[in-house]
Amino acid sequence: MFKIFGWAFIPLLLSACQPPPATQATTWQTPYLYWQLKRTPLQAPLLVPVEQVTFAQINDTWGAVRSAGRRHEGVDIFAKRGTAVLSSTQGIVREVGSNTLGGKVIWITGPELSSHYYAHLDAYAEHIQAGDWVEVGTLLGYVGNSGNAKNTPPHLHYGIYLQGQGAVNPYPYLKP
Ligand SMILES: [Zn+2]
Repeated sequence: MFKIFGWAFIPLLLSACQPPPATQATTWQTPYLYWQLKRTPLQAPLLVPVEQVTFAQINDTWGAVRSAGRRHEGVDIFAKRGTAVLSSTQGIVREVGSNTLGGKVIWITGPELSSHYYAHLDAYAEHIQAGDWVEVGTLLGYVGNSGNAKNTPPHLHYGIYLQGQGAVNPYPYLKP
């Protein structure tokens, strides 16, 4: 009986050392993965999260004035509609949803439990859902102008929020 019990747990213990494949929703491993992310430093340079866009093509628009007294809490990365949006970090998909300002958005919990916000998407990647593990470069969705960007050329709004600190400028994190 003990032997059967033991064998059954070997694959579980082995797989605990590795995150599940991207796009596979996590279940019992999630607390372990959060713990692992918490211990991983958020280190520059992060991947520029739009395919084939280089750092040199990005403008630092952090803090720029926006409507209703808001300040710009991120960077805008312009690209053709439908260009792939890629995860800038490893992490766990926290939310695939929508809101008035951001339109179609994805939230990822990344290293140091930082939050990464991908907004104005045209569409989400197929099958992506909360709980999925993502690697650097995992397809999240496609560039668009949903939400309050509907009168703006398609772009990704990318935001980083640190635990206990709130929004920080993503620009230096993307700098090579
Ligand atoms: Zn923006």
